[in-house]
Amino acid sequence: MLWAGAAQMSSSDPTLPSHFIRTIVAEDLRSNKHGGRVVTRFPPEPNGYLHIGHAKSICLNFGIAAENPGGVCNLRFDDTNPTKEDVEYVESIKTDIRWLGFDWEDRLFHASDYFEQLYEYAVQLIKDGKAYVDSLSADEIREYRGTLTEAGRESPNRERSVEENVALFERMRAGEFEDGAHVLRAKIDMASPNLNMRDPIIYRIRRVAHQRTGGKWCIYPMYDFAHCLSDSIEGITHSLCTLEFADHRPLYDWILDELHTECHPQQIEFARLNLSYTVMSKRCLLELVEQGSVSGWDDPRMPTISGLRRRGYTPEAIRDFCERIGVAKRDSLVDTALLEYSIREDLNRRAPRVMAVLHPLRVVLVNYPEDQTEEFEAVNNPEDPGMGTRKVPFSRVVYVEREDFREHPPKKFYRLSPGREVRLRYAYFIKCVGVVKDEHTGEVVELHCTYDPSTRGGSSPDGRKVKATLHWVSAQHALEAEVRLYDRLFEKEDPADDYKTCLNPSSVQILKSCRVEPSLVEATPGSRYQFERLGYFCVDSVDTKKGALVFNRTVTLRDTWAKIEKALQEQQAPNESSTTP
Ligand code: ATP
Ligand code: MG
Repeated sequence: MLWAGAAQMSSSDPTLPSHFIRTIVAEDLRSNKHGGRVVTRFPPEPNGYLHIGHAKSICLNFGIAAENPGGVCNLRFDDTNPTKEDVEYVESIKTDIRWLGFDWEDRLFHASDYFEQLYEYAVQLIKDGKAYVDSLSADEIREYRGTLTEAGRESPNRERSVEENVALFERMRAGEFEDGAHVLRAKIDMASPNLNMRDPIIYRIRRVAHQRTGGKWCIYPMYDFAHCLSDSIEGITHSLCTLEFADHRPLYDWILDELHTECHPQQIEFARLNLSYTVMSKRCLLELVEQGSVSGWDDPRMPTISGLRRRGYTPEAIRDFCERIGVAKRDSLVDTALLEYSIREDLNRRAPRVMAVLHPLRVVLVNYPEDQTEEFEAVNNPEDPGMGTRKVPFSRVVYVEREDFREHPPKKFYRLSPGREVRLRYAYFIKCVGVVKDEHTGEVVELHCTYDPSTRGGSSPDGRKVKATLHWVSAQHALEAEVRLYDRLFEKEDPADDYKTCLNPSSVQILKSCRVEPSLVEATPGSRYQFERLGYFCVDSVDTKKGALVFNRTVTLRDTWAKIEKALQEQQAPNESSTTP
């Protein structure tokens, strides 16, 4: 399944939100710059799980390809650093991209597919006098490189003869030297104001096995060398990457120019996604996993694709979010509220409604016959009548939400309190006539209420009004479930470097004995629901066992954080809101 799916579209389509990359691609198609081709790639390094920032890049690369006739997007693993890479990451990346709704078909590539070709290119650079083997230590190379304000110095090995360089490079490949004994460097300009152009290292010795090539290689190309050449080998037309690579573009172009490659893709940089209250670097995310701050890469609090999936996010919502944030050339911090907005929009349309009580308070309907039960017809989704209705059982004892009762109600609290009448959704009006308390703690443990049989279905024949409608479950029919409520993982809007010190200590709250309506007995892992008045929830796909449901709260019904919505809430009349005050 492809996202855009509209073969007749193109990046110049006026119905698509315009951004500078769409403009460039449309212009290149108009001028026939690449013979009408659009070939992009998504090039992850398999050293971690994908996060929502990667989703932006995936949507952009696969999206640009999909929206143009004949456009294709390759998946290429940038696997040039065997010490940090792993097949677990490779597999998770493939799963996540497919789940997002994109398909690389038969175009799965690896930088390691090209190791032999890259080696040949390096030899060619040496033979053209454009690369040399340097034997300075890593520290010396750093020292010789100079600074932003100070030119670098040329290495004493810079003038080695071509023959000597060729021979040394062959011996590097043959495994004759230890790690760090030599490197291969491009011979560019040690005085360049761009540090990336000061004879950058293009090959290094790493005597470690590679997850794909095993022990075949002990020298590995550097990212800057492998990336442009991989793009060129694959006939990429537009090489889209994040802004930090802008300073690498001269090197990208230099390598392809010096090697006179047939295909010279255009590198275009765009701003990476940063989200408020989270971190977006694989290094940080790996640390959170390793130090046990989260339960794994797929912890529902993680900004990873697998974490968002487990939390209950849909691919549609993530793609919608990526389209909404747009593509710009300037870095910014996107409000997490926008991501939550996208999932709410999607689940509001699609998620079936059910009733669940997170903090159960027993309510005995004292005038309801002991052994009677009945069923009410409940609407599955008011946004979509096609989703039909279901039966919800009712009986003498029901649970309501503890916070829907106040013994001493403050002003504007219209829910249950002694003497007060409210509506049980779909069922009856009930009135509180008694409160049972724990004799030691004074805690309210049970309510006694009467119900009015004439209000069946939720309205009163005498036109009597109530100000609150509560959700409930029948005690005798309800299923027990665990519910996990999540909050942001960090307390700071931009956790950046001190992310370890600003972890939110209450980012998860586990409720063990919640009660959910019996229709959920069939809920399968990963399925999503709206718990009426409470939010959207998803059946946890890892910890749910047969007969032991675990739900993750995906998102609350409305954003309790974003200032704008908060302000809106305050303007609203109290009994208009969907959460009954
Ligand atoms: P990280 O900083 O998380 O380690 P990375 O850039 O090293 O990310 P890669 O696996 O190299 O991770 O990324 C694959 C692609 O995804 C690259 O083209 C990269 O530019 C892009 N990408 C990574 N992070 C983001 C982000 N936050 N927003 C947009 N694109 C991103
Ligand atoms: Mg990278």
